[in-house]
Order: sequence, then structure tokens, then C-alpha cells
Amino acid sequence: DISNGSSESCTFKMPEIKFTKLFINGEFVDATSGKSFETIDPRNGEVITRVAEGDKEDIDLAVKAAREAFDHGPWPRMSGYARGRIMMKFADLIEEHVEELAALDSIDAGKLFTMGKILDIPGASHCLRYYAGAADKIHGQTLKMSRAMQGYTLREPIGVVGHIIPWNYPTTMFFLKVAPALAAGCTMVVKPAEQTPLSALFYAHLSKLAGVPDGVLNVVNGFGETAGAAVASHMDIDKISFTGSAEVGRLIMQAAATSNLKPVSLELGGKSPLIIFDDADVEVAAELALQGCMFNKGEICVASTRILVQEGIYEEVAKKLTEKAKSWVVGDPFDPRVQQGPQVDKKQFERVLSYIRKGKEEGAELLVGGEAHGEQGYYICPTIFSDVKDDMQIAKDEIFGPVMSLMKFKTIDEAIKRANATKYGLAAGIVTKNLDIANTVSRSIRAGSIWINCYFGFDDDAPFGGYKMSGFGREHGLDGLYMYTQVKSVVTPIYNSPW
Ligand code: ADP
Repeated sequence: DISNGSSESCTFKMPEIKFTKLFINGEFVDATSGKSFETIDPRNGEVITRVAEGDKEDIDLAVKAAREAFDHGPWPRMSGYARGRIMMKFADLIEEHVEELAALDSIDAGKLFTMGKILDIPGASHCLRYYAGAADKIHGQTLKMSRAMQGYTLREPIGVVGHIIPWNYPTTMFFLKVAPALAAGCTMVVKPAEQTPLSALFYAHLSKLAGVPDGVLNVVNGFGETAGAAVASHMDIDKISFTGSAEVGRLIMQAAATSNLKPVSLELGGKSPLIIFDDADVEVAAELALQGCMFNKGEICVASTRILVQEGIYEEVAKKLTEKAKSWVVGDPFDPRVQQGPQVDKKQFERVLSYIRKGKEEGAELLVGGEAHGEQGYYICPTIFSDVKDDMQIAKDEIFGPVMSLMKFKTIDEAIKRANATKYGLAAGIVTKNLDIANTVSRSIRAGSIWINCYFGFDDDAPFGGYKMSGFGREHGLDGLYMYTQVKSVVTPIYNSPW
């Protein structure tokens, strides 16, 4: 009963769009070319506003500012404690603007306003505080040298970083990369996704208010093939951190290799399994499976898109999932009753629908959904296919939408083998009360995160990243901080030492 895109159900006044330019060297500036691009509201396909379109020239200016701030500015030279205090202030400022920021991500990306308020935006300040607390605890080691020498390591900031971020979590991804890089003492250029440029600019503004020095954090909006590619191939960027598709990850790694051999970290796609064993509570398992797959309209790299269910409870789980999907509320992301907003844009909407068509053609049984929702906007009904075979396209490709594949298995060995039968390895879930099964499967799955009797077990302290073609490098935790540092050995001989 919720009409798509209607403002009747909105509980929040549209945010005023305050920042639409590029943020370079502490100032909001127009693009050198004077160009701008539209950002679209996925609830109705209407233009929200125009945003400055950064290109190679603007990336060059931003890198120049970041280089100057790194080579001569205070940020890498001040104490970690002092950096941490500024980051804490940044976190405080975010908390003063939670509703406004959540609303920006909702109109830009179709994300649930309520989730933005309780998860994405508070998560950003939490992430900043986590790394702020680590900023003065970045230690090297004292080395046990084999000769009469003293040796120790210094863990130094890696330099100027390029962050290329996706549109599904505009806020979370921004801070997952920016917070540890700031703590390490790096300076940076952020290239947000062209679909979701708005909140990043607000964060740039808040960083300045918090006291982050000019040039340390630059934000250049623009398209992937132009602005993004300029970041990847830049000769004066020391590291790239990228989250997005495997195809683009490959291009970025190539560009890094053929330019200055800068290291890259890649967080790419997934086709994550959730394995439900016969002893599981059906209600709990079905809820985990549904949330795991449909949360954030399936636009989440760790989505549990392959639900493997042991044969003893397969029918029950399928029935329960179908019931739940039928009462899952799709509609305006500002309505607090709604559980799923629109896909981010027309291209993704059409891509997801084409996979749904493919699933039907391939002969998977459609239990529920299978079509667009409503007349207006990019809404898709939560869709569940049953009896999906491992070699079907819908079982292999990352769909990035609310589309679930249900699969039946008999034994633990079969479950492990099929869970691993993917080119990806980002996450996996296990639902069982049996500790031996949980431990065995955890160790056997080739994926970076294993969630037992839960899903989305994210935490600022839990390293997160991919095996196989889901990428490499870890974000969150101290591993996430160390990606923005490099280790230097310092050695000196000790003459005439009895030791
Ligand atoms: P999706 O296909 O889901 O939109 P992408 O992986 O294409 O995801 O996009 C993630 C980020 O990568 C965005 O910021 C996008 O602009 C950027 N990007 C896309 N193509 C390139 C490229 N050739 N070089 C660098 N960045 C790119």
C-alpha cells in the first residue's frame, strides 16, 4: 500500500543541498572545465542537483595539494595523539548532523533513512573514533639482529593515497578508507561514485571545521573512466584503495602497474554462501537468509545470495522464506515501515531485472517476486529462486540486487565443496548449533569473513576483505590501518660490543 516515490509517506523534509563543488586544498571549487553532471533520485528518476564534474586536471590539482600537505604540511608530522583529537572532533561534528547526512544518502542512493540514522552515519563516527584511538599507537619493532647491530623498524605513513569508492555505502566506504588513512598520517584524494556524490562533500566540509589541515583530504567527484582512471594512473599517488566491481578492480591494478607501480588494495564482489544445517532453527535461519540477501536492496558486496540448505529442512526454510519475502515492505526509503528502497539507478535496475529473466530462462523455480515493483522509480520485488543449480548464471554472477538462489545439499562435505565453488571469497554464513560443524566449515571456506549464527558480523575491530577474486588487503581493524603505512628498517652497528 506504499506508493513508490510518493512524498506522502516521507517523514523527513528533503535536505537542502549545500555542497556541489569539488573540495581541493580546503576550498570548494568548480571543475577546471566548468562541467557538471546530474545526480538522480532513484525513487522517481528525477534530478536532485548538478555536481561539479572533476576530470584529470582536477585530479592533478588535488594530488598536488595532497602531495604538498604530505611533503611539507603538519599532518604527517604532528603527533598521532594530535591527529586523533582532530579526528574525534570530526566524529563529533558528524553526530551533530546525523539526520541531514542520512537523508543525503537516502535521496542519492535510495538507502533506508532509518538505517542511515542508526547504522551508516553513527558507524562513520565510530570508525573515526576507533582509528583516532589507534593514531598514537602505531609502533615499529625492536629487531633481534644476528650480528652486533642495533635494528628497529619505523611504521611510516605511505604517502598520498587515492581512494576510489562505490555507491552502495557512500558514507561507510568513505570512512572505511579515510579514517585509517588519516590516522596513519597520510594525505588523500577521494573519488566518490558518480551515482552518490553528495554526502562525501558534506564530510569534506566537516573535516575542515574539525581542523583537518588544507590539502590533507580532497574530494573530487567525477566519472570512473575519467576522474577514477586519472587517480589509478597518477604518477604521484603512492597507494590506491578501491572498492567496487572486479572488472574495474582489474583496470585499476593495470593502471597502477603501468604507471608508478603503486600498491593497491581491492575490495571487490562476492557470491557469498549462507549454509543452513538440519539442526538450525528454521525461523532464525530464514530471517538471517532474508536479511543477508535483501538488506540494502541486495546492493551489498557480502550479500548472502547463495542459500545452501540441508535437505532435511529445505522445504520448511523455502516456505518460511517465501512468507517473509511476501511481507517484506518495498517503498519510499524515508518511510520507517519500509524495508527496501529503490536500486541505485536505472542501469542497475535493468541489470538486476535481466538476471531475474535469466534465472527464469535457466529453469530455476521462482518462489516469489521476479519483477519490478510499482510504476515509478527503480524498485524491484524481493525475488527468490529455488532448486538453483551451481552452473546457472544466477548462481555464479554477482547480481547486486534483491535476488536469492536457494540450493539443496546432503552432506557437510558437499556443502563445503559447493560453497567454495565460486571465483569469489568475501564472506560466508553458517547456521547450526553443532560446534564441530561450525568449526570445520569455518576453516574450510575460502572467504575473508565467516559469520556463525549471524550475518553481517561487521565490527571496526574485525578485519574484512577478500580471498580469490574478491580482492586483497584488509579493511577494519589494525590491518586496515597498516595498509596505509610502510615499514622502514633502521640499522646501526655497535662497535666493540661484548653483546
Ligand atoms: P559499479 O559497476 O557497481 O558501478 P564500479 O566498480 O564501476 O561499480 O565503480 C566503483 C567506483 O569505481 C566508482 O567510483 C567508479 O566511478 C569507479 N570507476 C569506474 N571505472 C573506473 C576506471 N576505469 N578507473 C578508475 N575508477 C573507475
